[in-house]
Amino acid sequence: LQEAKRKDGTCVYVRGMYDRFQDRQAMARDLEHALERDELLLNYQAKIDLASGDVAGAEVLLRWHHPDRGAVRPDHFIPEAEHSGAIVPIGRWVLETACAQGRRWLDEGRPLKLAVNLSAAQFSQADLVDQIKAALNRSGLPPHLLELEITETTVMMDMESSVQTLQALRDLGVSLAIDDFGTGYSSLTYLRRFPVTVLKLDRSFVDGMEHGGDPAAIAAAVVQLGQVLSLSVVAEGVETEAQAEALRRLGCDMAQGFLYSRPQPVEQFQASLPPPGP
Ligand code: C2E
Ligand code: MG
Ligand code: MG
Ligand code: MG
Repeated sequence: LQEAKRKDGTCVYVRGMYDRFQDRQAMARDLEHALERDELLLNYQAKIDLASGDVAGAEVLLRWHHPDRGAVRPDHFIPEAEHSGAIVPIGRWVLETACAQGRRWLDEGRPLKLAVNLSAAQFSQADLVDQIKAALNRSGLPPHLLELEITETTVMMDMESSVQTLQALRDLGVSLAIDDFGTGYSSLTYLRRFPVTVLKLDRSFVDGMEHGGDPAAIAAAVVQLGQVLSLSVVAEGVETEAQAEALRRLGCDMAQGFLYSRPQPVEQFQASLPPPGP
C-alpha cells in the first residue's frame, strides 16, 4: 500500500483500499480526526477557456493522506464523511481554505475563479448561506471569484427547496454549477427555474465523444442546452486533443482534464501558471 507514494512525491490512488480491509467503520473513525491531525489538503485543477486557451479558474479537490493507508480516494471517503456527518466541519474547512487561497492569488494579481464542491449533506444545511457569507467576509474574496458545484442528483432531491437555496446563494453573488450533468434525472422545467450559471458536462460523455455515437450526441445536446439557457458549459475529464477539438467545434465554453493538468497541490498548481499580468 505504501507503494502508493511514488518517487516524485505524488501519490496514486489505490483503488478499493478500505473495501479490501472491510473496515469502513475504521475509516469513519479516522475521518473524525483527519482535520485536527492535518491529514487533509486541497488540490487545484485548472479550468481552461476553450476559445483563448487561458486558465480561467480551478476546481478545488479534497485529498486525504492517511498516515498508514496513504491517499484515500475522495469517491470512498466523501460518501462516508456524508454518512457520519464529518463532512460538515470538513466542508467548512474546504470553503475557508479555498477562499483564503483565492484571496491570496487575487492579491498577487491572479484573479482565478475557484470552484468548491458541495455534497448533498452540505447543501441541505440550514446555515449553508451564512457559512458561505462568512467564508467570503473573512477572506475578503469577492463573491464573483467563488463558484459552488452541486451535483445534478443533489439539486434534484428536493427541487422546491433547491430553488430557494440556489437563489439565496446567487443573491450573495457567487456562481453556481450543476456538476456531473447528464447522469441524474434532470427535469428541464426545473433546470430553467434553477438560478445556476454553469453546467458541467459529466466526463462519461466526454470519454469517447471523438468517436461519435451516443457520447458525442449527448455532449452536443448539453452544449446546446447551455446555449439556450444562457449557461456556460464546462466539459470535465478532457484527456485528449481530439476531445478538446470536438468540444471547441460544438461551442463548449470551458474544459478541464488531464490533457491540461492533473489536480495538484497549491505550490505545483501555482508554479504551472503563467506569471501574473500587469
Ligand atoms: P467531481 O467534482 O466531478 O470532480 C471531478 C473528478 O474528476 C475529480 O476526481 C478529478 O480528479 C477527476 N478528473 C479530472 N480530470 C480528469 C480526467 O481528465 N480524467 C479522469 N479520469 N478524471 C479526471 P476526484 O478528485 O477523485 O474527486 C471525486 C469526487 O469527489 C468529485 O467529483 C467530487 O464529487 C468529490 N469531491 C472532491 N473534493 C470534494 C470536496 O472538497 N467536497 C465535496 N463535498 N466533494 C468533493
Ligand atoms: Mg466537481
Ligand atoms: Mg463532476
Ligand atoms: Mg463526479
